[in-house]
Amino acid sequence: MNANLFSRLFADLKDPNKLAIETSDGRRASYADLIAQSGRMANYLVARGVKTGDRVAVQAEKSVPALVLYLATVRAGAVYLPLNTAYTLNELEYFITDAEPSLIVCDPSKADGIGAIAAKVNAKVDTLDATGKGSLTDGAATQGHEFATVQRSDGDLGAILYTSGTTGRSKGAMLTHDNLASNSLMLVDYWRFTENDVLIHALPIYHTHGLFVASNVTLFARASMIFLDKFDAAQVLGLMPRATALMGVPTFYVRLLQQPGLTREATKHMRVFISGSAPLLADTHREWSARTGHGILERYGMTETNMNTSNPYEGDRVPGAVGFPLPGVSVRISDPETGKDLGRESIGMIEVKGPNVFKGYWRMPDKTKAEFRDDGFFVTGDLGKIDARGYVHILGRGKDLVISGGFNVYPKEIESEIDALPGVIESAVIGVPHADFGEGVTAVVVKDKQAPLDETAVMKALDGRLAKFKMPKKVIFVDDLPRNTMGKVQKNILRDTYAKIYAGK
Ligand code: AMP
Repeated sequence: MNANLFSRLFADLKDPNKLAIETSDGRRASYADLIAQSGRMANYLVARGVKTGDRVAVQAEKSVPALVLYLATVRAGAVYLPLNTAYTLNELEYFITDAEPSLIVCDPSKADGIGAIAAKVNAKVDTLDATGKGSLTDGAATQGHEFATVQRSDGDLGAILYTSGTTGRSKGAMLTHDNLASNSLMLVDYWRFTENDVLIHALPIYHTHGLFVASNVTLFARASMIFLDKFDAAQVLGLMPRATALMGVPTFYVRLLQQPGLTREATKHMRVFISGSAPLLADTHREWSARTGHGILERYGMTETNMNTSNPYEGDRVPGAVGFPLPGVSVRISDPETGKDLGRESIGMIEVKGPNVFKGYWRMPDKTKAEFRDDGFFVTGDLGKIDARGYVHILGRGKDLVISGGFNVYPKEIESEIDALPGVIESAVIGVPHADFGEGVTAVVVKDKQAPLDETAVMKALDGRLAKFKMPKKVIFVDDLPRNTMGKVQKNILRDTYAKIYAGK
């Protein structure tokens, strides 16, 4: 059997004419169309000199041809390397010289700048614009659609995705054909996807969430997706009567809740709402249930591991928890220093092992070695615990842990207390250098404009609810928290912004 992800994705197709993707401007592609188009594009890639194992780096706007390029690259036995569309030429230089792709596909507006970088690694350049036009699709159109999918085995590389790199350099996570196929196939079952599903796809396709979770799950299920260039709450709400599933980052749900039209009636055709990539506030979960009657299904994953845990499809979807280890995935909580398994109800480092876990970081053997335990568990860098019922809870990234006066302070615990105060929309707790304490617990809070809330009121409300060492030394009010495109709060930016607030103390 060919373990190529492409072969597995399209094996045993019962109805080739089934709709796979439609776009908001009315374009439609069936499963047969995706196979034919990926065949033409794979032939073109080969004609451009792309060989088995070569990297194809892509910085392109979301479009059906961009997704076809992903399928064609994998089909041709090459390694798909998507890049965030926000990266500047300066940032791209690092990725391109590190990955040494043989072909780079980019927006025509960037072709000159990228051309200069490409020359350094002898890569060719093709263009693809937001409407799916460019030298890539022109070239593919001249090719035949028959293409013999290149033979690959489970452990061969299918993709490299660079991590967002908020601490130090971005690392290329090497994902194998089986990492991707096995995880998506399992999710189809776990989340009960079938050919009757219609997914609203409003995520970018350069990240694991939109590319692998959303697209691969839809295709494996023989379902269809409505491809949107970007998330627009009113548009997404308007599509719900003819869709069944939404996969989103928490910001999607927060914005949808601001739509007065979000009601039980408006969501009654929907089967499941899934959230991930950043913590979903327990309040958002509860408010969503009250408004729509649906419990958001929160799951936890990362670029390096695909999906690790999920709340159950049937059974309690617990607000603030990321659910159970997925079938085949082992999760344990360890002492960050010794690696000792801490068991249930203890806070420590989340470690995972399973067919979902990546092969290592591209050309970083030492970094790879440092992040795996001897028995094969990957150290995620997330702090968390497993409760008595087996639900996993995330308490923040290890690097966001605050150590004040020698005591560990888990930001999530303080944030949950602050978020529960009337008038608070959300908060982020960070550690800021402090002469006496090492780090001073600092709360950055977004409140309702009208709420009569100030620093003293927050402190007073927390007093008695939190041990003294966990109490914020300062509460700062802001209009918004800085977020990246996947909705993650960028605590590194907050730490930089407030680095000096305790200076001289
Ligand atoms: P990325 O590699 O960009 O997908 O980021 C992975 C990181 O996002 C994880 O290591 C977590 O810190 C965070 N993350 C993903 N899903 C969740 C979730 N449901 N709740 C809290 N954090 C999450």
